[in-house]
Amino acid sequence: MNAAEPRPSRGNGLPDMPGGGQTGEGETAGVAALLERTGAHRRGHFVLTTGLHSDEFFLLAQSFQYPEVLEQLGAALAAALRRVLPPGEGPAGGPAGEGGAPAGWAAGDGLRPVAGDRGPAGGGGARPVGAVVGPAMGGVLLAHAVARVLKARSLFAEKDDGGAMRLKRGFRLEPGEPVVVVEDAVTTGGSVRKTMDAVAAAGGRVVAVGAVVDRSGGGVDFGVPFVALLSRPVAAYPPDRCPLCRQGVPLVAPKQR
Ligand SMILES: [Zn+2]
Repeated sequence: MNAAEPRPSRGNGLPDMPGGGQTGEGETAGVAALLERTGAHRRGHFVLTTGLHSDEFFLLAQSFQYPEVLEQLGAALAAALRRVLPPGEGPAGGPAGEGGAPAGWAAGDGLRPVAGDRGPAGGGGARPVGAVVGPAMGGVLLAHAVARVLKARSLFAEKDDGGAMRLKRGFRLEPGEPVVVVEDAVTTGGSVRKTMDAVAAAGGRVVAVGAVVDRSGGGVDFGVPFVALLSRPVAAYPPDRCPLCRQGVPLVAPKQR
């Protein structure tokens, strides 16, 4: 359907995204353009998991299929997270590349959590983020990309029998270890909350949540700072009041094709 060459590459018109230190329209526009360009932002007639219908959908896997785009989004999200992390809960190894970092971030080798050197553990954020945790599937690759920049471990949570999520595969957190939870797109926040529960059950402490796209319209509260690279509230209709249904536009389950 798309006549244009879909594969993006650096230096070929891919929008630049600031690495940190500032937030604003430029970065948001860059992210929006990147999602558009890589096919993650879809327009049509979609049935959401809630059963409501919508005229747009974000399939972030479309962006994540390009490693260099995933890297850019991960770096931008890591930078946004740095701006909201409590002092002392920045990356263990300091900033990667440009961007700068608040003074006082602990140095480390990036291979293990570094114990805080400015106060007792749990005493108000003296420890760096040890792990980035994403819910499978949408958060797995993103957690890895963010963790790489934050010099933290990359973990993921998976559905358990019964619909909860938990850490499997031998993943462990240290007691009270600061953790960031990331998800590709947040709508109701359900997967993020289940992932936060999984982190708590494993003994970790969620200090911030990040997403590429916030579709909640500001309606979610995770009890910790929440940052997203792009805010696009869902415009959704019950099927019996859906204008696209009335127009006879074919309905698509976006993740199933
Ligand atoms: Zn409809």
